[in-house]
Amino acid sequence: MLFALKKIIKNGKVNRNECMAKHTSFKIGGKAKYFVEPASVEELLDLLDYLKIKKKKHFILGNGTNIVFTSNRYNGVVVSLCRLNQIRKYDGYIQVFAGVSLNRLCYFFKELNLGGVEDAFGVPGSVGGAVVINAGAYNFEMKNVVLGVLAIVDGKVRYLTKEECGFGYRNSRLKGSVVISVDINYTDGCNEIRMTEVMNMRKQNQPLDLPSAGSVFKRCDGLIVSKMLDEMGYKGTSVGGAMVSEKHAGFIVNSGGATSSDVKSLILGIKDRVKREKDIELETEIEFVD
Ligand SMILES: Cc1cc2nc3c(=O)[nH]c(=O)nc-3n(C[C@H](O)[C@H](O)[C@H](O)COP(=O)(O)OP(=O)(O)OC[C@H]3O[C@@H](n4cnc5c(N)ncnc54)[C@H](O)[C@@H]3O)c2cc1C
Repeated sequence: MLFALKKIIKNGKVNRNECMAKHTSFKIGGKAKYFVEPASVEELLDLLDYLKIKKKKHFILGNGTNIVFTSNRYNGVVVSLCRLNQIRKYDGYIQVFAGVSLNRLCYFFKELNLGGVEDAFGVPGSVGGAVVINAGAYNFEMKNVVLGVLAIVDGKVRYLTKEECGFGYRNSRLKGSVVISVDINYTDGCNEIRMTEVMNMRKQNQPLDLPSAGSVFKRCDGLIVSKMLDEMGYKGTSVGGAMVSEKHAGFIVNSGGATSSDVKSLILGIKDRVKREKDIELETEIEFVD
């Protein structure tokens, strides 16, 4: 299999037994059998064709900031899109490839004095990962700026209009497809003061000094879950190395040596108690990859 992968991925990278903890913001994850970084859309398409024919389990990785990767061995192929990282400005829109980080996109907007993505500054994901879950912060959601998405849907490259993407709260119809690039709208004039403001709010409210995958639970009928968990006394509660942040009860942090099972147990405990005491079914925003 290694030989076959290397034949397909001529310019990108193929590794065996890659430690996934170093590719996730949670710093959790055992070894993946294969780790591949296609260097072009052609390599990506050939790779996906091959994996489909061979019926090989695989996972598309963005920046790894919304996932808990299994601490056991991942017996499949992790496909990182980090090398699909071009940004191009056209008349009226920006085409940004999936592997570009939202922060780099924000700096690109700032450099060209364009507006529209200021509130996304500080969200650590890639554009691909952000569009799939319609990431959002403050007054921003990806859907506000997306004009259309180039994606691989059922093995074929398709251009999806914003409407076809079916954006909802931390959700879209793009799940299960592979985003190649996103066309993004812009306005004239970048609000640099706003960028600084949102970054300061993040620094003030979020435990950025410890590894995490951001907010663990989705908002629930307008309820601020972190506030409720704080009132229930969850800050500092831990299972193994996974701990509810002392700073923000909506975050679970890796306080040292956390495993995916620690995070799972902590979340299950919280969900059970919230269901029992508040009759609320919490839904997780972060994703487990097993
Ligand atoms: C400190 C911190 C703060 C955060 N703040 C916010 C916030 O304010 N708002 C917010 O919404 N999120 C926030 N997050 C979560 C996270 O950054 C976002 O959800 C982000 O959009 C995830 O992107 P990613 O590239 O890291 O995706 P990954 O974690 O790599 O993957 C997430 C999912 O997207 C899929 N995926 C990734 N790329 C593609 C692609 N190109 N095509 C198809 N599927 C793909 C993966 O298969 C997986 O299912 C935060 C996380 C951290 C650690």
